[in-house]
Amino acid sequence: MGKLFGTNGVRGFANKDMNAELAMKLGRALGSFLKPGDAVLVGRDTRTSGPMLAAALSAGLQSTGVHVYDAGIVPTPALQYRVKTSKRFAAGAVVTASHNPPEHNGIKFIDPDGTEMRSDKEDAIEAIFFDNKFRDAEWNDIGQLLLEPGVNDAYVEAIEKKVDADAIRRRKLTVVLDTSNGAGSLTAPFLLRRLGVHVVTMNAQVDGTFPGHPSEPTPENIKDIIATVKALNADIGIVQDGDADRCVFIDEKGGFVDGNRTLALMGGYAVQKNKGGLVVTPVSSSGIVEEHVKAKGGRVEYTRVGAPIVARYMMDHQALFGGEENGGLIWPEMQHCRDASMTMAKIIELLATSGKPFSQLLGEVPTATSVKKKLECPNDRKAKALDMFAKAHAGDKVDRTDGVKVYTSEGWVLVRPSGTEPIFRVYAEAKTPEVAESLANKSLAEIKDIIAKAG
Ligand code: MG
Repeated sequence: MGKLFGTNGVRGFANKDMNAELAMKLGRALGSFLKPGDAVLVGRDTRTSGPMLAAALSAGLQSTGVHVYDAGIVPTPALQYRVKTSKRFAAGAVVTASHNPPEHNGIKFIDPDGTEMRSDKEDAIEAIFFDNKFRDAEWNDIGQLLLEPGVNDAYVEAIEKKVDADAIRRRKLTVVLDTSNGAGSLTAPFLLRRLGVHVVTMNAQVDGTFPGHPSEPTPENIKDIIATVKALNADIGIVQDGDADRCVFIDEKGGFVDGNRTLALMGGYAVQKNKGGLVVTPVSSSGIVEEHVKAKGGRVEYTRVGAPIVARYMMDHQALFGGEENGGLIWPEMQHCRDASMTMAKIIELLATSGKPFSQLLGEVPTATSVKKKLECPNDRKAKALDMFAKAHAGDKVDRTDGVKVYTSEGWVLVRPSGTEPIFRVYAEAKTPEVAESLANKSLAEIKDIIAKAG
C-alpha cells in the first residue's frame, strides 16, 4: 500500500494538504512516468477548489512535455468513457473527492482502458514523486493545453444506445432526480429527458458548496427527495453522488433502498436476461446478492473490497455485471467502472420492461440483516490474529479473499483489517436482526480474546 494513493487516489482538505503545490507535483510525477508527447485528459467535479487544482495539475503535466486536454466539469465515468473510447490518451486524471464534504478534494488517475489506474503504476508514480525524479521539458517541448469538448454529450448518447430506450419511452415514467449539485447535473437530467422520462430535478445546479444536502447519500441526508417522490407519486427517486459514479434509489412509496438490494436486483436482472453468467462483488456484500443471482440462473464470485478490484476481476473473467453495496455498479457493456447514469438507465429499463412498481421488484429479492462493527487491534498483531481466527473455524467454510470470512449455520462473519487504522472491521450477516446482532457480538468477543493471545 502506497503512502500517497489510497483506494480512490489522493485525497485531502482543499488548499491545506490538497493544495496547488501537491496537485502540480502529482502532475509532474504522472507526466514524468508517461512519455513526452503523450496526452492526458483532465476533468473535475463541481468543487470550488476544482479549477485551481486542475490548473496546477495540468501545469505540472505540461512541464514534463505531456499535452493536456481539458474536459471541464464531467462525471468521473464520463471522463473514463472518453479515455477508453478515444484511444488518444495515455492516462486520465479526475479532480474529485466523490461524496466527501465540499471542503475536501482529491485527484485520481485513470488508465488508457478507462479503469482506475493499476496500483503498480501508482507505486511507480509515487516513487518519482518522493524521489523528485521529475522530467523537465525544454522550452520548445512544453506540453500544450487544449480543450476536449463534448465529453458529457458523447457519454449520454452512449448510454441511451445501451438500454431499451423505446420500452422506456412507452412507459412514461415520472422520475425525481437529485444530482447533489455535482457533475451529474450536466448529464443525468438530459439523459432522462432523451429517454422520454418526465424528470423532476433537485439540486441540479452546479454548485461546489453543495447547498442542497451533505454529499454522502445516506437516508438522513436525502429526506427532501423522499418527501418529493411521495408528494409527486413518482415511480422512482434517484440520488447521484458528487462525481456521479454511485447512486442510491428511493422506491415509489418513499422507501430508501439499501445498496445490497439494488446490487442483488440488478445482478438478477443481468443474468436472467443473459440466461446465466457471472456476477462479481466483494466478500463484504450481502449474501442476498448470491441468493438472488443463483435463483435467476447465474453465479457469483467474490473479490477483495474496492471497486477497481471488482472491475479488474470482471475484465479478467468476462463477468456480466458487478459492483459494491455502496451504489457503485459496473456494467461491462458500457465500461469497467462504477457508473451512476448507466445504473440509473438500467433500473429504469427494468421498471419499463417488467411493468412492475419498483417496490414490487425489490420485494422479489431475498432479505437479510447485516451488522458492521469495529474492533481495535495493533497493526503488528493483525496477521497473526487473522490466522488464529481462521484456524479456530477450521470446521466451517472459510474464505480468505480479504481478511477472514467464516460461514456458520447462522449466517456469516467477516473480519477485515483496515489498511489505514489499527482496527478490524467486523461484519456479521444473518436472516434476522437478532441473530445478526448476536453473531456479531459472539465474534467480537472471540476476536478480542484472540488479539490478546496474539500479542
Ligand atoms: Mg463518487
